[in-house]
Amino acid sequence: MDVSLRPEEYKALYEIGRVIIQMEDAQAALQEILRLARPVFIFDNVVLYEGASEMLTPTYARSIGRGRSVEAEADWGETVALQALQRGEPIVESRVIPGERDSLLNERLARQDFLGLPLKNLEGVRRSLVFIRFGGPPFLPEQVRFAGLIAELVEQLLERQRLVERVAALEAERQLARLQGHFVAMISHELRSPLGFIKGYATTLLRQDTEWDPATRREFLTIIDEEADRLASMIDNLLDSSRLQAGTMSMDFQNVCLTRLLQDFLARYQAEDLPFVLHAEIPDEPLTIWGDPRRISQVLENLLSNATKYAPEGEVVVSLSWDEQFAHILVSDDGPGIPPEHRANIFKRFYRLPRHEGAIPGTGLGLFICHQIVQMHGGKMYVDAAESGGAAFHVLLPRDTAPGQEAKRA
Ligand code: ADP
Repeated sequence: MDVSLRPEEYKALYEIGRVIIQMEDAQAALQEILRLARPVFIFDNVVLYEGASEMLTPTYARSIGRGRSVEAEADWGETVALQALQRGEPIVESRVIPGERDSLLNERLARQDFLGLPLKNLEGVRRSLVFIRFGGPPFLPEQVRFAGLIAELVEQLLERQRLVERVAALEAERQLARLQGHFVAMISHELRSPLGFIKGYATTLLRQDTEWDPATRREFLTIIDEEADRLASMIDNLLDSSRLQAGTMSMDFQNVCLTRLLQDFLARYQAEDLPFVLHAEIPDEPLTIWGDPRRISQVLENLLSNATKYAPEGEVVVSLSWDEQFAHILVSDDGPGIPPEHRANIFKRFYRLPRHEGAIPGTGLGLFICHQIVQMHGGKMYVDAAESGGAAFHVLLPRDTAPGQEAKRA
């Protein structure tokens, strides 16, 4: 195409090219392109249509100049867009709307010039760009050529955007497939291991040819009992996790005395056979919050069972404090801790520290569930390092007890 451009047109095209290269958000880039084009190429309305044959959909429309006052009633040039799309060439059309004029503005708005440009790519023409001017002058041939160059750049922008989206969609599909494959392998492995113990010890106890002394019988039955609990808790976690994904996790909010809940929970826990020393720092003063007591206990249970697995030596401290806004539960241990780069990720579904994968049983679901439960309370959960270097899990729950919270949380 023979195009001789004015210096300001060159400059505008150069700047538009830069916008396309730097583009992150296509809509914002399109807006910027049109802003850069307007000083050298006057238009009032602009519309981008997408589609094939008779079915055109406007995907972007802006009213800039005089058109703004008649935005709602204006003709947005669909017929011109369709012709440009079908013929694959620019369409110029001038219209004068008949009727009485009672002002200069009406006079101007009655004269409309349309320029429809097909946006071509390797797959043919699927889009067209329409510029509309009110009150003239008509689009001159050199302006049509300049607008054609803008249309080519807009097409490049949209194609790039389409490719970026396609790549992101493919990556998401691959990630999902990977996750599903990983999930099935991990779950079958994790479920098999307690099941293997249960089956093995039950079969051993049932053997006809051996008499087991009471101490051994009790030891085997204790293992079966513990492994059955582990299996049940894994299945509970799986169910909770899929309920959370589906948004169907139910909560039973009520006024809960957090001090009492923690004291009772820890008393029960301390009675168990723990590998660490459990130290509680819970004030006697009652603190009532709006929460689901069963779910809050589930969070504590999970944090302490993680300490059993990942920080079995030394001391685990559970403390409760509060300020105006939040009740603050802190569970810290003396274990190896969680390196800073993993701290945000361990609350994601299935995420486990690489050093624990394959070494210590786990599914990577527990902290995801805890985090979601805390969020459903309107709270926050995060991890940092305890003074000993161990893991310090912080659970912040809002201190609202006001009536009417039910409605807010429902
Ligand atoms: P699971 O224990 O089933 O793997 P979680 O979601 O409860 O799943 O924990 C996610 C990961 O966070 C664990 O796999 C482990 O790598 C790490 N983690 C959790 N608690 C601790 C802790 N107290 N100390 C060190 N690492 C921990």
